[in-house]
Amino acid sequence: MQTTSQHIVEVAIPLPLEGSFHYLVPERLSAAAQAGKRVLVPFGRRKVTGYLLGDADAPGAGELKEVLEILDEEPLFTTSELEFYRWIAGYYLHPLGEVIKMALPAGINLVSRYRCEQSEDGTPVLKEYLAGGKSVRTERLYTAVPDCSTRPRGKGLEILEYLLEVGECSGPQLRERFGPCTAQLGRLVELGAARLSQREVYRDPFKAKEYGHDGPLPLNLAQAQALAKVSTALAAGEFAPFLLHGVTGSGKTEVYLQSIAVALTAGRSALVLVPEIALTPQLVGRFKRRFDCGIAVLHSGLSDGERFDEWRRIRRGEAAIVIGARSALFAPLEGIGVIVVDEEHEGSYKQSEGVRYNARDLALVRGKLGKAVVLLGSATPLVTSYHAAQTGRLGYLSLPDRVRDLPMPETRMLDARNHKGDIFLPDLVEAMGENLDAGGQTLLFLNRRGFATYLVCETCGHVLRCPNCAVTLTYHRIKGKHVCHYCDFTMLPPSTCPDCQSGAITLLGRGTERVEDQVQKLFPDARVSRMDRDSTRGKGGHARVLKELEEGTVDILIGTQMIAKGHDFPGVTLVGVLSADASLNLPDFRSAERTFQLVTQVMGRAGRGDKPGRVLVQTLAPEHYALTHAVAHDYLGFYREEIAFREEVGYPPFAHLAALTFSAVAAGQGERAADEAAALLRRIKREARLRVEVLGPVTAPLGKVRGRFRWQILLKGVERADLHRLLFHFRGGFSHTSTVRLTIDVDPVDML
Ligand code: ADP
Ligand code: ZN
Ligand code: ZN
Repeated sequence: MQTTSQHIVEVAIPLPLEGSFHYLVPERLSAAAQAGKRVLVPFGRRKVTGYLLGDADAPGAGELKEVLEILDEEPLFTTSELEFYRWIAGYYLHPLGEVIKMALPAGINLVSRYRCEQSEDGTPVLKEYLAGGKSVRTERLYTAVPDCSTRPRGKGLEILEYLLEVGECSGPQLRERFGPCTAQLGRLVELGAARLSQREVYRDPFKAKEYGHDGPLPLNLAQAQALAKVSTALAAGEFAPFLLHGVTGSGKTEVYLQSIAVALTAGRSALVLVPEIALTPQLVGRFKRRFDCGIAVLHSGLSDGERFDEWRRIRRGEAAIVIGARSALFAPLEGIGVIVVDEEHEGSYKQSEGVRYNARDLALVRGKLGKAVVLLGSATPLVTSYHAAQTGRLGYLSLPDRVRDLPMPETRMLDARNHKGDIFLPDLVEAMGENLDAGGQTLLFLNRRGFATYLVCETCGHVLRCPNCAVTLTYHRIKGKHVCHYCDFTMLPPSTCPDCQSGAITLLGRGTERVEDQVQKLFPDARVSRMDRDSTRGKGGHARVLKELEEGTVDILIGTQMIAKGHDFPGVTLVGVLSADASLNLPDFRSAERTFQLVTQVMGRAGRGDKPGRVLVQTLAPEHYALTHAVAHDYLGFYREEIAFREEVGYPPFAHLAALTFSAVAAGQGERAADEAAALLRRIKREARLRVEVLGPVTAPLGKVRGRFRWQILLKGVERADLHRLLFHFRGGFSHTSTVRLTIDVDPVDML
């Protein structure tokens, strides 16, 4: 019997499993077994990387397995970061190990893999080996040994003399100077004339670029008032969340910059979150010009290695400002004073798979845990945010005017009813012609891509859909094929209707390509360009189109959502919105809010320069409040109608939602699981008296995706605590076959 106390630790494992696991730490590893490090542990028949959470008091039931290896010299996360991870795991009902894995840089974990090898007697056997593990990049450094008596000759001597002169030099630098010299360097080391050491280097994604310098701008009154409130909050050192509401060009970024300056002066750091698409070199440049401190940038274009290096720089305190998209929320910054969430209304802050977190919401949680100021900035705040500001849960900072006294663009709605099928109404054609003659640039916006939205039979009305996803297929003229935007299913256009075998197939709807064709026909001399995901695929495609616009080598630019975001186009004097209502018809309660945001944003592209701009919104729903208020630049008017609607039907902020999705290849299995789940949910709700509505199950709006049938249950709870208790008990009590996949989405953003 063992009498000495055993060292037992709690380990989280990045697998879809609930709870954490206990392991025994062998004597030889005991001193190194600190919380925050990764450990290699046996799990079932495999070896997996786990995260050491801390010491555990009592051994769990049964015999404990031993930790095999401690994988890190230094902890990867701190206790306060662990607190944040635990919060996320609890809130989103996701296994802690997977949350930690997501929060740490990708590709650093070791996993067991198997490969076939010949054994000694010639039979193949399975051998286990460990794969993965992002490495630290090092470079070799050579130093001369000054009092060494042996001297090389020739090139070796030249190198040695050079080393004596400069002190130390890296292999690549020496090769650059002396040409290939591996043999000579090896010889120098062998002779004892030079010493070799390793130095860690970073893979730097923003290579030493010169940005110049600028200082803070004198603030206008509204900006100064906002900054004063932020400064007061920073001085108090308590959690302080604010909504910074101001139209594009009202000087929000300047307020961010000066707030960050206050935080830095107080010895604190700053985290800036922006939507991926807004993370431009211009934005980064603005920060680099303003601040001397280290700035780390995290975005999706980084390789795993570059990301790992940026992460290590931050962990070591070499960057006081981190700018990045959604996942930068997990940057290992310490002592955060300010967290900025720019364009807080953006749906892209929500992660749509894995841990379904929302970085905008979690910024508030991180800010609360770290006693930081959180600035949520937007021209079109979420109605839930504005509501929170009205009820005092968010401080309200308003920048009502554009900094430069530019007038808002003149906006008009064009009624497209009774013009069905026309791509452009006569008024828009007229305006485009005028604008072209006056030398102005035009933006045409529509929110679908492809040549046409869908194919429909003229005789029977049959619509061509993806056999996997049940969504309409889109015709891409360049590929000459119909494509599904969910699963990439492709087919050639049929000449007759596959359903009734008689009718001819017609393109309905308007894609960017079709619009481009039409524009070119109407204005043969105009220089026309297109910006959507297809035309800008590949590195720099996006930047190229923007550059054309900037340099004035394009007269008319046609685009999708991509043109709505964050860019400044001073030459644009006319904006045409072609399908304002397409997004109104999506099966989602936020469709009005999305449409308002989108149209407002597109309108903001007009007249950013010295000439006044004009906006024409062509729509089949000219009376819809999302459009009438967008056109009138009236956020508050929109908010009042939208919040009344939300209250009436019980949507956020008057209720909290969670969506459960069940999917299976065999339709029957998925449906059965969803039915059983709904029954269990209703029983728990009744027994625990929880005020939660259980809606469904229903076939998901996208009834079939990648060959799997999908069902959804929607939960609506007035009290968040009730909703969470229901989900928690449900998860503990529900079992389903492994062929059925269940995802729980707390605060779903996209419910398709
Ligand atoms: P937003 O982030 O709201 O779009 P910015 O901070 O980018 O606004 O400001 C828009 C433009 O106005 C920028 O070119 C910025 O340099 C300038 N600007 C901002 N604040 C001031 C100010 N107080 N005085 C002069 N120019 C300013
Ligand atoms: Zn037909
Ligand atoms: Zn599909």
